[in-house]
Amino acid sequence: MDKSSSGFYNEAVQVIVRCRPMSQKEIQADCVGIIKAYPNRGVIEVQNPKARNENEKTKLFTFDSVYDWNSTQQGLYDETVRPLVSSVLDGYNGCVFAYGQTGTGKTYTMEGTKEFDEGQGVVPRAFEQIWAHINRTTGLEFLVSVRYLEIYMEEIRDLLKIKHVKTLELREDNGQGVYVTHLHSQTCKSEADMFKAMRIGNHNRTTGATNMNEHSSRSHAIFQIVIEMAEKNSKSVKVGKLNLVDLAGSERQSKTGATGDRLKEATKINKALSSLGNVIYALAENSAHIPYRDSKLTRLLQDSLGGNSKTIMIANIGPASMNYDETIITLRYAYRAK
Ligand code: ADP
Ligand code: MG
Repeated sequence: MDKSSSGFYNEAVQVIVRCRPMSQKEIQADCVGIIKAYPNRGVIEVQNPKARNENEKTKLFTFDSVYDWNSTQQGLYDETVRPLVSSVLDGYNGCVFAYGQTGTGKTYTMEGTKEFDEGQGVVPRAFEQIWAHINRTTGLEFLVSVRYLEIYMEEIRDLLKIKHVKTLELREDNGQGVYVTHLHSQTCKSEADMFKAMRIGNHNRTTGATNMNEHSSRSHAIFQIVIEMAEKNSKSVKVGKLNLVDLAGSERQSKTGATGDRLKEATKINKALSSLGNVIYALAENSAHIPYRDSKLTRLLQDSLGGNSKTIMIANIGPASMNYDETIITLRYAYRAK
């Protein structure tokens, strides 16, 4: 399980794993914990509850960093995401993805919980970092705008303007690259403006969904921040783009015996997630062909994946033995992306 033998190391793609604490429900059900994290070595150890012999007992996986239930939102942000946002503020593009089965902490990692300050996730911390930088920088002018969209069943929905009559489509154009037609772009003059856009989008995400949790676990949500910066009286503009992505749940539907629409949904989700995995893998391997075109998610993020862009994949897992199979699948997916 060591890729260094192939002699490649790619700083542009970072894969990290985060394991959430046991939930109250899991504690009450006397669930057995099967995860051990060794942060210093970037190693996750998984105990196989179904092991038939010594060899099958534990599996080890190595990542760029690993975080367990003792990790803090601030620690994770400062160590991994802050440098990426700094490079966006230098005019580069970046993506942060939260991947994992439903209930493993994707939304906790990205949005966090508002109950206490430490609970803030990656998104509000990025807002803070961006505006702290803008407010203390002199000699540069900034133009900041945000877009918030969702991909559900391979269709794009504008979360800042849900009453769109026109369908949103992906187009490609020589000057602009890949873009979404009619997508609303909201100019932000302050951190408060950005929070407002996020709240509107979060509210819209739930509108029309019969079950918020179900819906959000089946769609990819992309919050995109575009920062244009120019020296005063200068025509040359640098642009940095930050994409914060809460991915659809990666659980396998075969396990739940999905049929009909649910099965169609699941097939599309799996296809998009595996195409994202393939793109990240191809980038990490410096492959000549990057298969962006296989899903809307990867086409849409094409200009922020590869080239000078930076990518962080946060793979979320739970600690309980009953999720062993899903945990292994998530770790394999993440390991391949490394
Ligand atoms: P997902 O978005 O992947 O479906 P959530 O983010 O909604 O999962 O997390 C499921 C539950 O676990 C939530 O109640 C959340 O607050 C809790 N949780 C997730 N990660 C952590 C963590 N690192 N520390 C404490 N609680 C967490
Ligand atoms: Mg969620």
